[in-house]
This record gives sequence, structure tokens and C-alpha cells, in this order.
Amino acid sequence: MAIVQLPAEGAHPAPRSSLRKIAIEEHVLGPLGEPEEYLEHSIRSGVGRNWAQVAYQRLLDLDSVRLEEMDAAGIDVSVLSLTSPGIEEITDPTTAIGVSKMVNDFLAEQVASHPGRYQALASVPLQDVDAAIAELRRAVETLGLRGVLVNGYVGAGDGGSVSYLDEERFDPFWKALSELRVPLYLHPRAPDKKVQETMYGGHPELIGATWGFAPETATHALRLAYGGVFDRHPGASVILGHMGETLPYFAWRIQRAFEYNPLGKNPAKRLQDYLAENFWITTSGNFSDQALITALLTVGADRILFASDYPFEMATDAARWIEQAPISENDRRKICYKNAEGVFGIA
Ligand code: ZN
Repeated sequence: MAIVQLPAEGAHPAPRSSLRKIAIEEHVLGPLGEPEEYLEHSIRSGVGRNWAQVAYQRLLDLDSVRLEEMDAAGIDVSVLSLTSPGIEEITDPTTAIGVSKMVNDFLAEQVASHPGRYQALASVPLQDVDAAIAELRRAVETLGLRGVLVNGYVGAGDGGSVSYLDEERFDPFWKALSELRVPLYLHPRAPDKKVQETMYGGHPELIGATWGFAPETATHALRLAYGGVFDRHPGASVILGHMGETLPYFAWRIQRAFEYNPLGKNPAKRLQDYLAENFWITTSGNFSDQALITALLTVGADRILFASDYPFEMATDAARWIEQAPISENDRRKICYKNAEGVFGIA
């Protein structure tokens, strides 16, 4: 017997999404658009050439495809940032200072010329801490940018020296961030060449977003927590993408093992407490119900923010997923826009 369907005629049209969304890990190349340099870096980071070329076109666009894709995804506001490896891989401090200023001016112009659609996170020249503080203050206080995005460690990544932000010389920078009450988005970049050659030797497919970005960034976050950054600067806020770079899943085990053998470290709180009080977690590039539930059970809906990781992910994929994710409507609203309005002061 044929199955009788509900009649198509007279059916209600599918409801149009009216869920406001602020997406906060949305990348640009801005004034740094050099195709060969970008492609070379992307391929070193494990991105295929074809994919890198598609992403490259979108990284440069701020007036057409990006806005169309935001509209298709129901994204009201994109918080823009310079794509990895950004300023952090520049070795000459004077160059880093100049490029940061150029990028931040560019971002501020984009925000001003697309009212209501874009906000932005600054780039800063951490090669010179005093200059980074000065540029942070200029970017936030004068240009109106909403925080800073740092692409992992500071250094070329070519096997030379690298710096992580738990080093005490960065304390004045954390102090400035706390005073300005703006967050630092700790974004991945590919691990240093030494790590690539040993741990990932023979496996370039594991260096980038597949896996290598997550342990690189999670380790940096753990250095901040166990290195006492949040004890010295309780008001400091760090945003982690990709649903927390594996930390929500692993926090209990990390803290358990640490307590057995702290090796001279003496943080004031447990890792779970730092995650709940000093970190924000975004959905960028990890549109997984399981990962979201784990993040929710670790930090709660008040500390999770919507993001796509455009153009390395499709904004529409991010949006359709969060609209259907098995969570309460109250949590969905917090994640999609309410938390971001608070963190970034966006009306
Ligand atoms: Zn990203």
C-alpha cells in the first residue's frame, strides 16, 4: 500500500531563520595579500593547493562573496581577524610594528565602511612588548577594535627560537589587556619546524587543522594556566577556537596528572576553574554535537561563542549546524550572539 504523504499544497513554508548570529573567528588577508607567499605557507601548514586557492580569494574579499555568504548563513556580524601565521612569524620587530599598524588601520576601515556587519580583532607586534602594548591601546582606544588575536607562538617557526605568552616579559601586555577589558583570541598556527620534522615526520597530513594545530594551541593555553598568567592577571580573558582545542575533553585527566606531579608549579586554581573563569570557547571549525556537549559540560553555555573559521569552513555549514544542535533555545541564543555582545561590547 502506498504511503500517504501530507499534502504539499497548503503546507506552511519552511520558517526563515531569525536567529541573530555574531561569528567571531572570521579571517582576512587584508593588505598582506601576496598569493605565492600565502599559498606556500598554507601548503606548509597542511592545506591542499586547491583549497588554499579557494580560501585565498575569499580572504581578500570583504564586499561581495563574504557578505553574500554571511546573509545566506544568517550571520549578522563577523568579527574579522588577520589569518594565520600573521604578525607572529615576522622576525624583525620594526617590520612587525609597521605591518601591525597597517593591518589594524585596514580592519578599522572595513568596520567603518560596513556599518553593523563587521567588527575586528587587532594584530599586535609581540616581538617588542612595549610596542605591542602601544599598538593594542591604539587599536582598542582609537580605532575601536574589540580585542586582539594572536596566532600562537612568536617566532619564525623555522627551527629558531620561539616565545610563548606565559613568559614573564609578556606580563605588562596581559596587564594592558586586563585594564582595557578586552580578550585575546589564541589562534592556532602550524607547529615549529623542529616539531614538524620529528613528531610529524613523514606525516604532513597531520600538521595542520587535522591535528597539529590543536596540541600546539592547547599546550600554549596550558602554559598560560599552569604558568600563573591568570593568577597574576585574574581579569585576563583568552578565547580558544575549535571547541577548546581538545581541552574540554581532556581537562580532568590533565588536572589529575598535574596534581600527582606538579614539578614545582603552584597555580592557585584547578585547570577546570581557569577554563570556566578565564577562557571562552568557540565553535569555529568543529561543528560537532559531541564536541559542543563536552564544551557545555566543561564551561557552560555562558562561555561558548559562535564562530565559523571562514573561509576555511563554510559559514552556512556553521550556521545550519548551530541552528539544529541539540541544546536549549536559551543556550543557542547565548552561543549565537548574547555572549559575544557582552564579550565585545557589540550592541
Ligand atoms: Zn581560524
